[in-house]
Amino acid sequence: MPKLDSGTSIFTVMSKMAATHNAINLSQGFPNFPVDDRLTDIVSRIVKTNVHQYMPSAGHVPLLEKIAGLVAENYGRITSPEEEILVTAGATQAIFTAIQALVEAGDEVLILDPAYDCYDAPVVLCGARPIHLSLNDDFSPDWDAIGRAVNSKTRMIITNNPHNPSGKTWREADFAALEDLLDKHPQLLVLSDEVYEFIAFERAHISVNQRERLRSRSVIMSSFGKSFHITGWKIGYVVAPADLMLDIKKVHQYLVFCVNSVAQAAISEYLDIVDLADLGTFYRTKRDRFRNLVKDTRFTLLPCEGSYFQVASYAEISDESDLDFTRKLVTQYGVAAIPLSVFHQSKKDDKLIRFCFAKDDDTLVKAAERLQF
Ligand code: PMP
Ligand code: GLN
Repeated sequence: MPKLDSGTSIFTVMSKMAATHNAINLSQGFPNFPVDDRLTDIVSRIVKTNVHQYMPSAGHVPLLEKIAGLVAENYGRITSPEEEILVTAGATQAIFTAIQALVEAGDEVLILDPAYDCYDAPVVLCGARPIHLSLNDDFSPDWDAIGRAVNSKTRMIITNNPHNPSGKTWREADFAALEDLLDKHPQLLVLSDEVYEFIAFERAHISVNQRERLRSRSVIMSSFGKSFHITGWKIGYVVAPADLMLDIKKVHQYLVFCVNSVAQAAISEYLDIVDLADLGTFYRTKRDRFRNLVKDTRFTLLPCEGSYFQVASYAEISDESDLDFTRKLVTQYGVAAIPLSVFHQSKKDDKLIRFCFAKDDDTLVKAAERLQF
């Protein structure tokens, strides 16, 4: 029996199909436009300095301090950079590491479907049980179902706000419900995946960092990959209270020891000059452009409140499965997208697909032309 009973990631599969069929790749979530010249200039300069050796395991000290500054500035939470911040090789490593550190064999971990694909495997690998529950039809959490599912074995609930794939953002009432749940279950922790924290459109992002009743029991993940259009750098961070962080760091030191030194030093400098408040406006413009370009197609667009993903229904075009439909879309129409059923453990198929709009305008225009059928 393999330890992990999973196939190849849908992102690998779809990006490969896009390349094979010379299609426009709106499947895997990554920007295709150049990064800020100021960031590449910093890299060019610092790569020639003596910045090539191991960094402290938890992270480059100036970077830890600047992350603490970001958290204080955006959410009013004062953290100890030394004890409560960890730089990781992307949010993926952050999530894996935190789960390995905090979840034990026999525990249960709640995952809300449709869910991004990197939560299940680390839970299984620690001998714990992922319990998949469905979000409501509008992708908000179903607090009644969650309340019924939590028991004395439930160690963690994984939340993702803004949400991949739907772009849904949490409301005040969702946080209140989560707070009540933690009050009732003293063993329960929250893993809050906030990698799209700076990409929220309709209302300001509410972070677990802002919630006094949650933060002592929560580990929060973010990703510079999303915030600075550098997904390939694989760099992100965790914010967690010192007691949980102590255990997370024990795993981190044997998983990677520390993260790429050049990337850490570069981002640390870049944080002095970049304004993350612009990111939401930047992606809102892209979202509106993409929605406008495809509004006369037969796709029905669902609301998108954050992230860089747009979910669309193709129910008026076809009754094929979403896997078959995305296969046809990439091979016959030249646009790659992600079928939403892959994010449901039950493979629930609501005839929905996900497009990534983190693309230059020319790509969005060409993709929209191909979607007019
Ligand atoms: N969580 C979510 C919801 C994501 O969308 C992604 C990346 N697509 C990650 C985690 C992983 O982030 P990273 O690339 O920094 O590992
Ligand atoms: N997070 C990206 C997405 O949702 C994919 C990252 C990956 O390929 N692992 O598309």
